[in-house]
Amino acid sequence: MAEKSFVGKLKRGLFMTHTEMIERVRDAFTPELGVDQSVLDALEESLLGADVGAEITVELMDSLEETIRRGEIRNIEDLTVRLKAEARELIPDRAMRTLDPSAEKPFVVLVVGVNGTGKTTSIAKLARLWKSENREVIVGAADTFRAAAIEQLQEWTDRVGVPLVRHKEGADPGAVAHDTVAAARSRGSDIVLIDTAGRLHNKGHLMAELAKIRRVVEKELPGAPHEVLLVLDGTTGQNGIAQAKAFLESAGVTGLIVTKLDGTAKGGVILSIMRDFEIPVYYVGVGEGMDDLIPFDPEAYLDSIFASEHPVAAS
Ligand code: GDP
Ligand code: MG
Repeated sequence: MAEKSFVGKLKRGLFMTHTEMIERVRDAFTPELGVDQSVLDALEESLLGADVGAEITVELMDSLEETIRRGEIRNIEDLTVRLKAEARELIPDRAMRTLDPSAEKPFVVLVVGVNGTGKTTSIAKLARLWKSENREVIVGAADTFRAAAIEQLQEWTDRVGVPLVRHKEGADPGAVAHDTVAAARSRGSDIVLIDTAGRLHNKGHLMAELAKIRRVVEKELPGAPHEVLLVLDGTTGQNGIAQAKAFLESAGVTGLIVTKLDGTAKGGVILSIMRDFEIPVYYVGVGEGMDDLIPFDPEAYLDSIFASEHPVAAS
């Protein structure tokens, strides 16, 4: 049941990406002409449109043309099967890790990313998910830049039913992070989720603040934070890559959450992130609701975007 709804949600989330990938190619295909140049042109456009990036597109096209020359691709079915296999090869082993919050106690997760990408919402969703697995979760409101950010998190944590550690607007985010970890230790919580600001006066300030939060957390609990999750808005496609790079370089990001896949045909960007940064995507956001965050599974992801059948109708 859970498995089925997970796949169903992923498929719905990636529906627009799948359409971008496959429908255009299918339209260009005729049984008479087979997989000819016009089909390949459509495919190349589709890959670029789904934001897998120029480099991966060239690589996929090159290896496909090779298999076509060998006469191995006769129809759309063959093409999608081949594409999926080639795409699978692009994902490095290091990007296949999954997140295990029982690895430490408390397990401390710092959530970072640009404003509006979905950090606060994703924290609420993660708290909900982990709470449903009978884990004690505590959240820290270290985005103290705006009072509204603290209130938004308070509303979410109230709805989910998990405690929130908060200070006043403008308070030191490091102090909030410290108090959250300290509270988790004294309560015996399993998981600490720390929300952070995505916008400060400039990027230098933001990165310095994140570095400070990390230091404070590490001092309170050696070895923490155990994960630094970067939240990336999937609708920004390749532009998100530049963002990811900045955070990877300065904030010690260990994994990603890609949000808003339900509103974009650019879901191919995930392939390019895993390939370029050798970093796992742990979760994907597929809607605004509390349950619209699902663990990312690379195989199911590739199946969903490269399936030759309509992914929602087929489920
Ligand atoms: P933050 O500034 O990074 O903390 O971003 P928020 O968590 O406040 O989210 C910004 C907006 O994105 C809100 O309107 C959320 O409802 C919306 N959002 C977050 N995740 C998703 C998602 O997976 N799908 C959709 N459609 N909207 C999302
Ligand atoms: Mg926020």
